[in-house]
Amino acid sequence: MGKAHYNPSALMSAYNYARHWAKRTGLTDTSRVDRAFGYLQTGEAMGKWREYNTTVRDCNCPDRRVRGNRCKHSLSKMIHIKHQQLMAEFLEITPEEFNEIQGLDIDNSFGADPRKEEAHASN
Ligand SMILES: [Zn+2]
Repeated sequence: MGKAHYNPSALMSAYNYARHWAKRTGLTDTSRVDRAFGYLQTGEAMGKWREYNTTVRDCNCPDRRVRGNRCKHSLSKMIHIKHQQLMAEFLEITPEEFNEIQGLDIDNSFGADPRKEEAHASN
């Protein structure tokens, strides 16, 4: 299992994507996105995603399970996946192929499209 290497410019775009998503949907505070962005860069996130079975929408950690928050694990995974997608797009390969290049074994799909949550939230 490798460590993710982030392209600084793609990572900023992915971070901005997550911030805009938070503002649009109102599902979480942008300050949580900011903290998740810092958390992602500590390199600890990936191990926790496995431990908590984290997806972009859900997580088995106490913050999500008990307190119902959109946790730093889910938010950092959103930023990570968006980064992988942007890089794959740039390289004209699939996100899975980009994972392979990085030696990562992470599901690069958002699961349900996070933009769909916006529709739910505004209904
Ligand atoms: Zn969590």
